[in-house]
Amino acid sequence: MAGYEGMAGREGIIEALKRTKRHGKVSHAYIFEGPKGSGKRDLASAFAKSLQCEANGDQACGECISCRVFESGNHPDIIYVAPAGGTKSIGVDDVREQVNRNMGIKPFKYRYKIFFVDNASTMTPAAQNAMLKNVEEPEEYGIFLFMADNLAAFLPTVLSRCVVYKLRPLADSAIEKQLIDLGTDREKARLAACFAQGNLGRAKEITSSEAFMEMRGEAVRLAQAVRRLDIPELLMQTLTLEKYKDQMQQFLDLLILWYRDAMVVKSTGSTDRMIQQDKTSEIYSEAQATELKCLQRKFDAIWDAKKNLARNANFQLAMEAMLLQLRQ
Ligand SMILES: [Zn+2]
Repeated sequence: MAGYEGMAGREGIIEALKRTKRHGKVSHAYIFEGPKGSGKRDLASAFAKSLQCEANGDQACGECISCRVFESGNHPDIIYVAPAGGTKSIGVDDVREQVNRNMGIKPFKYRYKIFFVDNASTMTPAAQNAMLKNVEEPEEYGIFLFMADNLAAFLPTVLSRCVVYKLRPLADSAIEKQLIDLGTDREKARLAACFAQGNLGRAKEITSSEAFMEMRGEAVRLAQAVRRLDIPELLMQTLTLEKYKDQMQQFLDLLILWYRDAMVVKSTGSTDRMIQQDKTSEIYSEAQATELKCLQRKFDAIWDAKKNLARNANFQLAMEAMLLQLRQ
């Protein structure tokens, strides 16, 4: 990867980072804040790489020696700060050893000396105090890139010196596009995007999760079979559902998605035109209207089941009530 490819949905931040490089107005400390899987490490990496790139572009060229050494993970002027000795948090000794000692030494070959601090939210207050002088009065070449899932972990004195980029949840469409670009099939990509809550990393996990796909298959089978079963057979289905008891909210979301697709197909004849369109402007035939009403009742039944389970209602009873409604 040369520049900022594969980061759809982050155009605003990418443009700001490119502008920074283009105008050479680089700050000494940046925080990329977002939950695990939001892509903050990829953004910060692409930025670090672009800053050290020997070509003059606003993003890394991918071809110069610096870019190539960067990919090997052994760039001489990028220091990856991490807790030593198997601890989970970055402590005072880590800062003294890896940051303070290094900061005084000029860059080996490139323009900047970049301190790349992953999991920066784990820095103890003492560790932050230990690096404070370097953040407040940095060497001209010194740059900190902090990746954090929680801004509240920073001391105000550190925070006030940093340019902060917050990685907000991505739109489902941006996630879907990226998964498709990565070679995921369209249907799977859409499904994963629906369940990832704006988090690309989570979406990738879903696409590779056999358990999730199996659960999805089960939900589809149930939705397709439910109208054909007689009542005793239908009630037997609660036994199958027992298997997903602990993930029932997710299972029911999958069921909702299946019915939502069915509804879209009924109302537009295609899954490509999603429900965002203004329904009131559509003119339905009477038969279509009846079908849609029927689907709406099914939605309501699933939502009721979700609510009841969230309130710790009896599992068996909640499932039976829902299945009977779905059968109609
Ligand atoms: Zn380069």
